[in-house]
Amino acid sequence: MSAGAERRVALVTGAGSGIGLATARRLRGDGWALVAVDLDDERLGAVHELGAGDVVACAADVSTEAGNTRAVAAALERFGRLDGAVLNAGLGTAGPLETQPMDEFDRVLGVNLRGVVLGVRAAAPALRASRGSVVITASISGQYGDPRMWVYNASKGGVLNFARSAAIDLGTDGVRVNAVCPGPIAHTGMTQPLEQLAPDLYEEMRSHVPLARFGEPDEVAAAIAWLLSDDASFVTGIALPVDGGITASTGMMRPGST
Ligand code: NAD
Repeated sequence: MSAGAERRVALVTGAGSGIGLATARRLRGDGWALVAVDLDDERLGAVHELGAGDVVACAADVSTEAGNTRAVAAALERFGRLDGAVLNAGLGTAGPLETQPMDEFDRVLGVNLRGVVLGVRAAAPALRASRGSVVITASISGQYGDPRMWVYNASKGGVLNFARSAAIDLGTDGVRVNAVCPGPIAHTGMTQPLEQLAPDLYEEMRSHVPLARFGEPDEVAAAIAWLLSDDASFVTGIALPVDGGITASTGMMRPGST
């Protein structure tokens, strides 16, 4: 942001942990004011260190209309504007296609897809006023399938195509909508248990990454910050892989295997 420019305001969902927390830190470093959204005050503990006057912690469930409305209202009440919505909150899950309970399907789709739809709908009027933008944290698991991850794959595939249609519908008002598609990212609530409890699977996933490592939350945050910034002013409707090169591969062979 250039010196003297009006301070911009973003809301970040799932801001208490992992990619959302890294994004909150990155945007604060870039000079944004923030509404940091997560399920409860305990999960939002880490955002308080980001600067009380410039950060509103908002406990809200993004799978509800009321939660999203409250988050946008918090931005307007405290800062008078909203320039960016980072719709990042999400849940992972895995299980057998034929027997995984449909309640689990509803729970995950409720956050990963419905939550994002509600977030865009709630933020759209304020973003129209500021000619702001949305960044959705999808996944490379929305572009392709994974074993036993049909629920997550469906949720992320759905949200990716929603991002494209929202980009078209809001583009005429100058509002951009983009998605990032992370590959395996370390040190998040989603992958930390894997690293600790299933090291063989963690290593198997790492072995499929051309850059030969998990990514870091900061590396996704950097892509999100770029998409929100004026440097991406003619970029809308994209699904940007931040995946160490996984989606460059057909999947037939592991990198380095021949
Ligand atoms: P994380 O568990 O560290 O963070 C997710 C945050 O979302 C948590 O703080 C959680 O409390 C919050 N959240 C969950 N449900 C919510 C709800 N209903 N309302 C408000 N907040 C809610 O995991 P992460 O890896 O940082 O995940 C962030 C996003 O990145 C997710 O959408 C995830 O699907 C996506 N992603 C992660 C990876 C990875 O390897 N970590 C890869 C691809 C995509």
